[in-house]
Amino acid sequence: MSDQVAQNVYYADGNFMLRATRGSDQDMFTMAQRSSGEGQELPLLNMSDDAGELEEFLQVLYEPERMIPTERYSEDFARAMLVPLRLADKYDSPLIIERIVGQIRIDYPETFEAYFLRDQELGLHGRSAPSPVPYIALVRAGALEHQLHRSLALMLYDASCLGPLGHAPGLDSTTYDGAIVGRYALFSRFASIVKIELNCQGDEQREVCDHQDIWIDLISDALLKPCLFVFLTNQACQIQWTHASFGRHLCASCAYSIVEHLKSLRATLFAKLPDFFL
Ligand SMILES: [Zn+2]
Repeated sequence: MSDQVAQNVYYADGNFMLRATRGSDQDMFTMAQRSSGEGQELPLLNMSDDAGELEEFLQVLYEPERMIPTERYSEDFARAMLVPLRLADKYDSPLIIERIVGQIRIDYPETFEAYFLRDQELGLHGRSAPSPVPYIALVRAGALEHQLHRSLALMLYDASCLGPLGHAPGLDSTTYDGAIVGRYALFSRFASIVKIELNCQGDEQREVCDHQDIWIDLISDALLKPCLFVFLTNQACQIQWTHASFGRHLCASCAYSIVEHLKSLRATLFAKLPDFFL
C-alpha cells in the first residue's frame, strides 16, 4: 500500500519525510528504515498524528501568515487554530503558540481600554462580539488558561451573555453553568457598590435631587440587561442625565457625578472579571 503525498506541504528539496500513522500505540515519532525515493533516500519519520491534522500544522509552520485572520474579530480564526495550536504545544513550537496567543489577546482583550475599543469598532460595523465558544476551546486545547486568564474571564463573561445553553452551540454545560454563576456574582457585586453619596446642594433650577430612587431604578434596570458593560457604557454616555435617564431630572453636578461614577464602576468591574469567572 503506498502512502499519499500531502502536496500542500511537499517540498521537492526537503531533506526528510514524515509519515502520519495515527491509531497505533507507538511513540510520538519513530525513525523508520528509509524511504524509497527516486535516486535519493530520505530519512522517514513515522508520526503518531492524524494525517489531516499534521498537514494543517505543517502548513502553519511553513506559512506563518496563515495565522493572520482574514477578518477582524472572527471566531473562524479560533476554529482554524485549534489543531495547529494543539500540535504546536505537542511539538514545542513557541513561536506559533506566541502568535496565536497574541491574536487571542486582540480578539479577547485583557485591558478595559482595549475591550471598549473593540466594542466601539464592532459597533461601527454593526457587528456583535465574536462567539466566545471556539476561543474557550482554543485556550483549553493549548492549556493556556494561566497565560490568558484575563482574556478567558472575558470569554466566560461573554458566554454568560449568550442566553440559555442552547444559544451557545458547542459550549459544554459545566462551562456554561460556571459562567452563569460568575455572572450572578458580578451582578451582585454591581448591585452592592453602585450607590454613592452625591451630597446634592441643588441648583438655581432645582431643589435637592432625590438619589435613592435613581439607584433603585439603575440596579433593577441593569439586572434585566444581558450585558452589564453595555448597559453601564450606555448609561455613562448619557450626557442627557440631567433630563433623560429614567425620566428623572438631576442637577448638573449630580448628573456629572453619576456619569463619572458609572465610568469608574465599569473599569472596576472589568478588572475584577477573573475573580468572578475563574
Ligand atoms: Zn443634585
